[in-house]
Amino acid sequence: MNIHEYQAKALLREYGAPVSDGRAVLKAEDAKSAAGELDGPLWVVKAQIHAGGRGKGKFVEAEAGEKGGVRLAKSVEEAAEMAKQMLGKTLVTHQTGPAGKQVNRIYIEDGSDIERELYLALLVDRVSSRVSVVCSTEGGMDIEEVAESTPEKIVSFSIDPAAGYQAYHGRRVAFTLGLTGAAVKQMVALLGKLYQAFIEKDMEQLEINPLIVMPDGNLKVLDAKVGFDGNAIYRHPDIANLRDETEEDSKELAASKYDLNYIALDGEIGCMVNGAGLAMATMDIIKLYGAEPANFLDVGGGATKEKVTEAFKIITSDPNVKGILVNIFGGIMRCDVIAEGVIAAVKEVGLQVPLVVRLEGTNVELGKEIIQNSGLNVIAADDLKDGAQKIVKAVKG
Ligand code: GDP
Ligand code: MG
Repeated sequence: MNIHEYQAKALLREYGAPVSDGRAVLKAEDAKSAAGELDGPLWVVKAQIHAGGRGKGKFVEAEAGEKGGVRLAKSVEEAAEMAKQMLGKTLVTHQTGPAGKQVNRIYIEDGSDIERELYLALLVDRVSSRVSVVCSTEGGMDIEEVAESTPEKIVSFSIDPAAGYQAYHGRRVAFTLGLTGAAVKQMVALLGKLYQAFIEKDMEQLEINPLIVMPDGNLKVLDAKVGFDGNAIYRHPDIANLRDETEEDSKELAASKYDLNYIALDGEIGCMVNGAGLAMATMDIIKLYGAEPANFLDVGGGATKEKVTEAFKIITSDPNVKGILVNIFGGIMRCDVIAEGVIAAVKEVGLQVPLVVRLEGTNVELGKEIIQNSGLNVIAADDLKDGAQKIVKAVKG
């Protein structure tokens, strides 16, 4: 689960990280008073969307001369005007995809003077099963591009969970980034606070790009992108409250309400499968026979009829879906329950596209019988290969 920059900064402030004063604005008419509460003489007006690259982004509705999603203002009036211009518009960045994202919130921040822009991130490294620190002198830019063209400028190391954070970790970052004087001590303290926040709040990603050195030599967190482990959100009601559902894929949101593991993809064949491994295999075999999956969907081991119906609704609500493959292995899950769920769903939402059903395992005969007797136009398949070939043929001809 991701949160907005202004929420991330408020959280990091609680942990003692240096961030500027700022105000979140939801309505254009509140922009002026919000900006007026900040000292100036520089204001930064920032579009809040769950995507990076806002500064270099472009608004779909931009007028001539209009800039991206991070703008500098010299007065309260100018800041308010910029906030007004951005609210409600669609911002396209290299992370949003071509459709972009609608800006519903603005963050107005006290502007900082910048001497250097650095990069600092904490993330979970699956290879070492530890929290890794990633830092670079090339802050403020697209870090993927730095990794591509000058990988030697990115330094990364992991923190041993048994020993936890130690001052030498912070000094290593400080020296890598060429910090001197008070900034070295500040980095040692800052990285410790970030690590503490990361562990305590079950974060998955904490990216500060840029972390700046100001002309007075002090450090400041100028941008913050924070993501949390969705499986641990139940432990943090304060974090759960920060969820902005308008930023999420509506189908993935519906799926999460019914505890379905659903990920939207770009292809044309909707998949309903039980078990993550079987779901992956199903996606692979669809590709093998020349089509693309429209989603990953694991209905889980103990799915009820209602859950199957919901899953089916989510799949059919995707306009890209040109055919559906149901591939169920009845272990804990009974094939007759799946069959009933599929039929109930088809009756409720209708069936505009070909549907191939492959059932195997517990109560498979009963399941097949239920489908055959339903009078619905369902193509039965004998095994995984047969199912994949049949749905690809039905969709592609
Ligand atoms: P992003 O483009 O979505 O990553 O948004 P950032 O918050 O990282 O802002 C983009 C860029 O705007 C930064 O790299 C800075 O160069 C600039 N910027 C942001 N805040 C300030 C500020 O307070 N003062 C100045 N001078 N520039 C800023
Ligand atoms: Mg940034």
